[in-house]
Amino acid sequence: MALFVQKFGGTSVGSPERIQAVADQIIRYRAQGHQLVVVVSAMSGETDRLLGLAASVAERPAPRELDVLLATGEQATIALLSMALQARGCQARSYTGPQVQILTDNAHNKARIKAIDGQRVMADLAAERVVVVAGFQGVDESGNITTLGRGGSDTTAVALAAALKADECQIFTDVDGVYTTDPRVVPQARRLARVTFEEMLEMASLGSKVLQIRAVEFAGKYNVPLRVLSSFAEGDGTLITYEDEGMEQALISGIAFNRDEAKLTALGVPDQPGVAHLLLGPVAEANIEVDMIVQNVAPGGDTTDFTFTVHRNDYQRALEILQTVAGDMGAREVVGDPKIVKISLVGVGMRSHAGIASTMFQTLAAEGINIRMISTSEIKVSVVVDEKYLELGVRALHDAFHLEQPMTA
Ligand code: ADP
Ligand code: ASP
Ligand code: MG
Repeated sequence: MALFVQKFGGTSVGSPERIQAVADQIIRYRAQGHQLVVVVSAMSGETDRLLGLAASVAERPAPRELDVLLATGEQATIALLSMALQARGCQARSYTGPQVQILTDNAHNKARIKAIDGQRVMADLAAERVVVVAGFQGVDESGNITTLGRGGSDTTAVALAAALKADECQIFTDVDGVYTTDPRVVPQARRLARVTFEEMLEMASLGSKVLQIRAVEFAGKYNVPLRVLSSFAEGDGTLITYEDEGMEQALISGIAFNRDEAKLTALGVPDQPGVAHLLLGPVAEANIEVDMIVQNVAPGGDTTDFTFTVHRNDYQRALEILQTVAGDMGAREVVGDPKIVKISLVGVGMRSHAGIASTMFQTLAAEGINIRMISTSEIKVSVVVDEKYLELGVRALHDAFHLEQPMTA
């Protein structure tokens, strides 16, 4: 008998029929004698619908009220799933995040989990109940409802698994594991039987939305065995784990991409100490996260061009800030482009192999794709290209590195 935390995402609970199918699956696990804590998302499309409603009544809805609204999505699913379980004769009880005391900080819309009180859940498990918990939500110290950012139900599940010392945290979704890249973009993408926390963290932070980045961070930190599986088909899925000798030593484990970026450039900025701070300080003060940064000295040598990327949602605000500060500094011009994407190769095998970046650049060049920015680390190479080249670029790279077949270093 094992204790599993099982999380079902939006598509997996997207209709009454899907909720019934999930209930049937839970019954099968219970029949094997396992204890289950089930975390669910809002039904697919519901969080977007609620965001749309908020936008229709206020230009900038108050973050606190947005959390009160968004939390209703998951609350509906826990009740429906518990009803479906009870209708099958299975004892189940639903709880919202605040009810099970998922304590978070007070950063509305992107709160971080600080502590979980597992007592109540443990008591229900001891009474042989299936515990159904709303993902994505918690409560701050003052009793305000908070939410954990898009995709946050993954993090609820991992945090609960850590708090309850579960045997495994199982993320059931609409794909049967973590693939070499998004199978929606590259049909030849291959499922990885195992991937390291380090690679998964990199892939998640570079845009692979199959797992929320904080969930991976949390699982790595608390050593929670984490598995991604399909709620539609049987299989072993993908185990996220620490590196070990038995693991396939691929050069590249995957290709991540991010469609949510936008690029801004201040042209002809005086090349003096403190420029980066003067330009980016006000951006940081506005709570806008900057991702890639490139600075080039312009011909003549006394001015520099300064380029950086931000989330597309922050583009307009960042542009306004940059226009003001760059203008004050005597910059020649500020230009921006919200239609760019970032494509990244990820793999721990890169550490010991040179030439990955050059193959990447060559492959993109052969397709006529212009690279706008480049950034590298020990285990990744990222490029920024025009949005229209996303699919072409990802497919060409997947082919060039033969990711459809297991490759050993
Ligand atoms: P859920 O609603 O279950 O949380 P998500 O939509 O958040 O599901 O995540 C699953 C989706 O992630 C898949 O449908 C797939 O399109 C996408 N995805 C992106 N990158 C990958 C990858 N490397 N492997 C698998 N799926 C990926
Ligand atoms: N419902 C939330 C979202 O769509 C949380 C989640 O599904 O994980 O982002
Ligand atoms: Mg998700």
